[in-house]
Amino acid sequence: MWTNRTDPRTYSPMSNPRHAALKAIADQQSDWDRLDFEGNHVKDLFGNNVFNTEQQRQRLPKEAFKALQQTIQYATPLPMEHANVIATAMKDWAMDMGATHYTHMFQPMTGLTAEKHDSFLSPGEGGRAIADFSGKELIKGEPDASSFPSGGLRATFEARGYTAWDPTSPAFVMHNPNGATLVIPTAFLSYTGEALDKKTPLLKSMAALDVQVRRVLKLFGKDPQRVTTTVGAEQEYFLVDKQFYVLRPDLVNCGRTLIGTEPPKGHELDDHYFGAIPERVLAYMSEVEAELFALGVPVKTRHNEVAPGQYEIAPIFENTNVATDHQMLIMQLLRRTADKYGLVCLIHEKPFAGVNGSGKHNNWSMGTSDGENLMDPGDNPHDNAQFLVLCAAVIHSVYKHGDALRMAIASAANDHRLGANEAPPAIMSVYLGDQLTDVFEQIEGGSAKSSKQGGLFQTGVDILPELPKEAGDRNRTSPFAFIGNRFEFRAVGSSANIAGPNTVINCMVAEAMGMMADKLEAATKGGTDLNEAIQSLLSEVIKEAKPVLFNGDNYSEDWHKEAESRGLPNFKKTTDALPVLKNEKTRKMLAPAYTGPEVDSRLNILSEAYAAQLDIEADTIALMAKTHVLPAAHRHLGQLVDSITDQKAIGIDAPAGLDTAKALSKTVADLEVAVTKLDSELAEAKAFDGEPLDHATHYTKAIIPAMDAVRALADSLETVVADDLWPLPTYREMLFLR
Ligand code: ADP
Ligand code: MG
Repeated sequence: MWTNRTDPRTYSPMSNPRHAALKAIADQQSDWDRLDFEGNHVKDLFGNNVFNTEQQRQRLPKEAFKALQQTIQYATPLPMEHANVIATAMKDWAMDMGATHYTHMFQPMTGLTAEKHDSFLSPGEGGRAIADFSGKELIKGEPDASSFPSGGLRATFEARGYTAWDPTSPAFVMHNPNGATLVIPTAFLSYTGEALDKKTPLLKSMAALDVQVRRVLKLFGKDPQRVTTTVGAEQEYFLVDKQFYVLRPDLVNCGRTLIGTEPPKGHELDDHYFGAIPERVLAYMSEVEAELFALGVPVKTRHNEVAPGQYEIAPIFENTNVATDHQMLIMQLLRRTADKYGLVCLIHEKPFAGVNGSGKHNNWSMGTSDGENLMDPGDNPHDNAQFLVLCAAVIHSVYKHGDALRMAIASAANDHRLGANEAPPAIMSVYLGDQLTDVFEQIEGGSAKSSKQGGLFQTGVDILPELPKEAGDRNRTSPFAFIGNRFEFRAVGSSANIAGPNTVINCMVAEAMGMMADKLEAATKGGTDLNEAIQSLLSEVIKEAKPVLFNGDNYSEDWHKEAESRGLPNFKKTTDALPVLKNEKTRKMLAPAYTGPEVDSRLNILSEAYAAQLDIEADTIALMAKTHVLPAAHRHLGQLVDSITDQKAIGIDAPAGLDTAKALSKTVADLEVAVTKLDSELAEAKAFDGEPLDHATHYTKAIIPAMDAVRALADSLETVVADDLWPLPTYREMLFLR
């Protein structure tokens, strides 16, 4: 009776690709010792591949060195007469490091980095090659811009785009198999001068903030040369074995699983978080860190994250521009190095439904060129008027522009994570902690007279030391939390370029600082005592911004209701958040960083990217349903039917499996209907003719529900189809085997 279906009597593990992968992983050699750290201490590696201050000092004439340093520290323009000298020195250094090519690295609006490599070498006399790199080539590149998204800023035939050297972010040499390249961080602009990238608006936003914060500081008698924003971004990611990855079209095409049931064991036991790091993973992390160290990226922390298979890497904070470039390198090296260990690094926000997602906690502060951290309240915040003014401005900015802040982190991928019971919700609120909440409450009621103190923490065990206790606890559920000396914006997605969210934060804070400075300047000019002016301004600002303050559990249902009654926006989907870019209020706030047409272009690009992402996902899940899930289910059904027929043939009246077969048949038929429906919705969505935002919204409304329907049925089949017939690596395998 066995037909040409899989015959369990002749079954071998190799006939199921998933089982073959499992066997290969089990047989894996566990020798991950690739690097020699004894002969080569990591501390000696730091900045080795960077054209750093030491190299600059050694290789540049004094004048050029001083000018470059001035630019790096205070963002003053670099006099161009030095460009040629710097270019030559950089080239000589890079060639000494083995580089043959150089590239202008930029951050187009794809959210990735882009580079085009040119050789240093050109034909010289006598048929030999000479190495050449001029100041002109250093400061300006001309990649063809026509294939990068411009969101309508430019017609396709207007292909010219320029890259412009950013001397404030250090150039470095990137080694690759069989070569090395000098990488020069650049901004990317169109022929007509509009920003086609993420760096240009970020730099503008930092400059705007600098101006406004220094106005406030001036009132306190301070005059630093420069105020910059600082960022330390903690990066979460997953690792899966490459043998599994290649068997999952959804991971390969979309970076996340579109099908898959939750494993019997998830993170219920919390036994992964901060647990011992598996050997292969630790070896991988060490190599990523060593590489990053050599590139001058100050990585500091590594640990297991909440979900099985999830990890985190965090650098020490730097000025936001450099931190952003370094963050891109972190993602690049995480991805690239994984392959050497037979792993794949998933940076997607939600690779596994129902399992903790990945974010990028964006720790944000401001510092002066004199080394003062402006978000440090000191021991007695109630007495620190400068801090209170600056902090109140930040709070007010989140109150006023929470909708824009949500927009700044919007993507199809991050939508799966926000509000999914382990990530902050899409509602933007500020957590201040006990101490600051108390101080601001006092201010609201008149004036602040005291600050709650942390004191000492008694362990209750004699042999353990008394520990100094922070004055405020932390809140892991808050999207925008004050944590001692900085704000942590936790809602940023793990795959995002942090330039976007930081540009928005800087712009909104700059606007609030400007508002504070205007009022305080006017009051003091009018003869009011500064302290009195501050007192009344703070209480006015805090009264207004109060609805955005929330110290409780952001995951709870109650908060969603409460937030609604406070009038806080809750944009569940990207397409709910993007229209914010049409608001006058938002455009005015963003004006220091983006022109009107640039804002429009961002709206178009974000919409197009969202629709394209959903389109790829829908195509992929439909394909997987048709070519993986349905064939497996049909085989299983066939075997059941065969067995039932066999049982009947020997006289069993009520054969086992009959009900199962009937139920299975129904699910399979339902799945076929759901896939047909998805296909037709998709055809309609692809043919949709209209504005990019409307197109994207159409995908939200028509495609997401159609995909969800397919997934629910496919997932239920995974729980009944015979293991040896199921072709897709499962969650329990991908998350736990490494
Ligand atoms: P946790 O996981 O407990 O939040 P981590 O040590 O993993 O803490 O990350 C904290 C991040 O905050 C680090 O990148 C750190 O450098 C950064 N950070 C600390 N101080 C500042 C600051 N003044 N500005 C910006 N980031 C900061
Ligand atoms: Mg953190």
